[in-house]
Amino acid sequence: MSNCVFCRIVAKEIPATLVHEDEHTLAFMDIGQVNPGHVLVAVKHHAENIYALEDAQAAAVFRAAAKVARAIRGAFEPQGLSVYQANGAAAGQTVLHLHVHLVPRYEGDGMALTWPVKNPPREKLVEYAGKIKAKLG
Ligand SMILES: [Zn+2]
Repeated sequence: MSNCVFCRIVAKEIPATLVHEDEHTLAFMDIGQVNPGHVLVAVKHHAENIYALEDAQAAAVFRAAAKVARAIRGAFEPQGLSVYQANGAAAGQTVLHLHVHLVPRYEGDGMALTWPVKNPPREKLVEYAGKIKAKLG
């Protein structure tokens, strides 16, 4: 038996309220429900984070996220919808099994993400892009 709570949900060892399932993903209600209709889309085969995803899993996660997001919009008619995915403790990841939050949003709903822009000079953007491109291969 896995100690990973999401692997146990995938294995149906722990109950969850499912909304969608396909070959690579399982979507279920987040027990916390930041707002009604808050869904998690998780990969079925354990991958700790975005770095560990195989290409087919990565494609499937966003395909499922878009599909379920449209259904949430149709069901709850929120003013907006946030897609949140965290990798590592510093990013706020608490369950070490890749998942994407789909959170219906409303003005003044209390959910916040601080976004402290630094607006570096263009030379810095070029420098940062160069570092990333060197790792893309
Ligand atoms: Zn897992």
